[in-house]
Amino acid sequence: GYRPEDDYDYLFKLVLIGDSGVGKSNLLSRFTKNEFNLESKSTIGVEYRAITSAYYRGAVGALLVYDVTRHSTFENVARWLKELRDHTDPNIVVMLIGNKSDLRHLVAVQTEDAKAFSERESLYFMETSALTATNVESAFTEVLSQIYKIVS
Ligand code: GDP
Repeated sequence: GYRPEDDYDYLFKLVLIGDSGVGKSNLLSRFTKNEFNLESKSTIGVEYRAITSAYYRGAVGALLVYDVTRHSTFENVARWLKELRDHTDPNIVVMLIGNKSDLRHLVAVQTEDAKAFSERESLYFMETSALTATNVESAFTEVLSQIYKIVS
């Protein structure tokens, strides 16, 4: 059978969390396959309480995503962060991501507000677009290199 641990020097588990529809699936597919889907069905997986613990178990990095055009998704970031902190090691590397930065005319969350929140909570922060691929690779790479620094 195929075991990823046979092929890599390092294997890090990252989780993607944040409200439904913020673009988690598309960020992942952009990073892993360079694909984007305009009509992707929103993922609801992590909202099932029963699998929450299993989802977080062993995670060493997290991308906590909100949608820059929907303020409610930013307001919910604190709740997601609490859930993350309740289920993971305190050393987990967390990046706050404001996704859909291509929708400039619809921006509802100011960059400065998100930046200030990240600083208070000791999170990394980036704005991305899964649609245009802006900063997607950088966001994942930054999280992975910060994890690498901790473990090596
Ligand atoms: P998830 O529920 O968090 O996994 O969100 P999805 O990845 O399913 O995306 C939800 C919707 O937002 C889909 O219609 C996507 O096409 C759209 N979407 C995701 N990322 C972006 C982006 O960066 N820009 C724009 N304009 N739309 C996006």
